Amino acid sequence: MERARPRPSRRRLLQGTALAAVPYVLLPERPAGAHVPAPDYPLAEWRPASAASYTGANRPTTHPVDRVIIHVTQTTYRKTLFVFENPRKKVSAHYVVRSADGHTSQCVREGDIAWHAGDWDHNARSIGIEHEGWVDESAYFTDVLYEKSARLTAAICEKYGIPKDREHIIGHYEVPGTDHTDPGPHWDWSRYIRLVNSA
Ligand SMILES: [Zn+2]
Repeated sequence: MERARPRPSRRRLLQGTALAAVPYVLLPERPAGAHVPAPDYPLAEWRPASAASYTGANRPTTHPVDRVIIHVTQTTYRKTLFVFENPRKKVSAHYVVRSADGHTSQCVREGDIAWHAGDWDHNARSIGIEHEGWVDESAYFTDVLYEKSARLTAAICEKYGIPKDREHIIGHYEVPGTDHTDPGPHWDWSRYIRLVNSA
């Protein structure tokens, strides 16, 4: 979704003599049809978080990746993306999965460190996946949400050589020092791990 804001035309930008010397990639606005970076996971839609809300890195070279952290959003899918786009919120996750159809957005590159675990060590070593829903409302955890998320987690595990087990696929509540409870008591871990292993 585009926020309404005045945007100078490309023609006007290029007429400015000072700006004409600036490499095109540095111009702040993208014209329609410009190249948009592809997500790491081909089935995801690229919906970038604010650059103020994650740490740039070059994982797994700079930091090994050995955990997937499972979250529940406690708000809607749409609002989660807005929060991640807001530089004042200082929060992000790599992926967000929608309840109704499993549609998945990628908000932070896997090579970068998203801010989702509330703990630097766990942020630096993990991929964070948010699931639309509330910890006390099991109806949000639909079949298609489990299936699409499990397929994503399986792909991440294969890419980084992460074992597909509960030691390496953990809930936010298992991050040391956290007061978060997600994904909560209704999240079916045995089903999820089984799906990750059969994906
Ligand atoms: Zn969480």
